[in-house]
Amino acid sequence: MSSRWIRNGLIYLIITVIVAALFYNVYSASTSLSPVPITTVAQDIRDGRVSKILVSGEELRITRTSGAEVISRKEPGADLTQVLTNLGVTQEMLNGITIEIQSPSEWGSWLAIFSSFLPLLLIGGLLLFMMRQAQSGNSQAMAFGKSRARVFSSDQPTVTFEDVAGVEEAKQELSEIVEFLQEPDKFSALGARIPKGVLMVGPPGCGKTLMGRAVAGEAEVPFFSISGSEFVEMFVGVGASRVRDLFEQAKQNCPCIVFVDEIDAVGRHRGAGLGGSHDEREQTLNQILVEMDGFDTDTNVIVMAATNRPDILDPALLRPGRFDRRVVLDLPDRLGRQAILEIHAKGKPLADETDLGVIAKQTPGFSGADIESLLNEAAILAARRDKKAIEMEDLQEAVERVIAGPERKSRLISDEEKEIIAHHEAGHALVMASLPGCDPVHKVSIVARGMALGYTMPIPEDDRYLKQRSKFEDELAGLLAGRAAEELVFEDVTTGASSDLERATLLARKMVTEYGMSEKLGPLTFGHKQELVFLGKEIGEQRNYSEDVARTIDEEVRRLITEAHETALRILRENKDKLLDLAKKLIEVESLEGPELEAMFA
Ligand code: ADP
Ligand code: MG
Ligand code: ZN
Repeated sequence: MSSRWIRNGLIYLIITVIVAALFYNVYSASTSLSPVPITTVAQDIRDGRVSKILVSGEELRITRTSGAEVISRKEPGADLTQVLTNLGVTQEMLNGITIEIQSPSEWGSWLAIFSSFLPLLLIGGLLLFMMRQAQSGNSQAMAFGKSRARVFSSDQPTVTFEDVAGVEEAKQELSEIVEFLQEPDKFSALGARIPKGVLMVGPPGCGKTLMGRAVAGEAEVPFFSISGSEFVEMFVGVGASRVRDLFEQAKQNCPCIVFVDEIDAVGRHRGAGLGGSHDEREQTLNQILVEMDGFDTDTNVIVMAATNRPDILDPALLRPGRFDRRVVLDLPDRLGRQAILEIHAKGKPLADETDLGVIAKQTPGFSGADIESLLNEAAILAARRDKKAIEMEDLQEAVERVIAGPERKSRLISDEEKEIIAHHEAGHALVMASLPGCDPVHKVSIVARGMALGYTMPIPEDDRYLKQRSKFEDELAGLLAGRAAEELVFEDVTTGASSDLERATLLARKMVTEYGMSEKLGPLTFGHKQELVFLGKEIGEQRNYSEDVARTIDEEVRRLITEAHETALRILRENKDKLLDLAKKLIEVESLEGPELEAMFA
């Protein structure tokens, strides 16, 4: 019987009882209109005016010789004859009277009982009803111990490896897992110990969650997924019970995949919490470890987990027999980006002239999620422009939107400010174009976008994993060129360069302290960054060098910046007419790109 049935039955029962009880009360009230005292009854009997007495429990119904009826009551449980005798009625006087004893009806006494319990019943019923309501609704108030793992059963159309691109190595490693889930016997016959846990590591948005589902989709097995933060609850001990529940469910459905997303929420170094060692997170983590160890070798449950912070995970999670496989999902390279673009472009009509290869080239550093949102932005833009297909122009604009935020055409900029911004951006563009270490300039614009008043967009030739010192030095010059142009043209400086300066300083400092690119200090690193788990990033930087070295670092940083600034100034001085031309053109057309821009540099 379903709980729904029970609930409805209960409600009907309660209603019936209420109605019956009310009816009973009204009925008995009407029959006991004016009970006369028993002494009056005794007097009547002595006077010979009574012909019949009907006894029903404590109620007496007396019929007079005149035919009239009255009602009276006696003590409950007392014997009527005894009571009357006490009141001076003799046996002879009773002889002419019919005394009928009627046992009180079952129905009536039941009703009496119910009616006295009525308030209690009402409250209880209401409570029950509320509890059911709470459970059946979205509110989980009464079900906090149950795991929130969702089941994606295999008959649902799920994601497959086809839908994930740009992570070929990861796919290869995970296809081993798929094979195992499909044919476990093949492996166990050779005595191979099956990996129990796979940890997927990588920056946010590069497809870890997607990959987890794709493995389940490929293997066509059920997929139980829960996010680490869902284990951490208001109630102590709930996390651990959720883990137990989740694995219980998984074992009943094996072969299957248990996917713990964002495992860093529970899997941090134990004992790292500020609240002492017995914290909730730790219990949950312990329970995960216990469950993973508890699998028999023939349980085909594979635990997959994802995190973007493998560095803070508890070492116990990573030892063999637990999450011993690590699969790295990194940001996609150019070909990868193109493949991801193609995946997400499916179902979106693209105009014939669009070239996703060009877009892939323009988007180094984009994650899969960025690319997805890029295509979505492009589709929105195209729709707002009432187009039937997405054109190259929309895609380009979407790239800029994702990088720098939407254009802010409404921002009012005075002509004087426009002059300054134009010269500033022209300075960036010119210096970047003339230094070999800088990426080619793709676009210059003085339309405000996001927080920036104008921007110069360089496009790397290709993804780069190593950078030379000379390249960094050129980059620094490019960053400082905006400020240098302002100085050169207006002999004054503005606040417009503050974020350029910040980036330049950061880069110069990294060159000295992290990359060992200062000759004076040699190939050493300085400062030991220890990310304290609960104190946030970089608060805990430890200084492992002397005051003297600190001074030298500052000097070196300053030297790099000054030299870059001088380089920028020199280039701009030598090309001052070009700078002025470019700025003038920018004020006129607001943004320049492609061949037009190249013509200006020639
Ligand atoms: P993560 O879990 O690593 O933070 P997700 O798996 O949630 O990232 O990715 C978010 C979205 O980005 C996915 O739903 C997918 O649409 C897109 N995406 C990310 N990486 C890829 C990829 N390699 N191939 C295709 N789409 C991707
Ligand atoms: Mg994710
Ligand atoms: Zn600038």
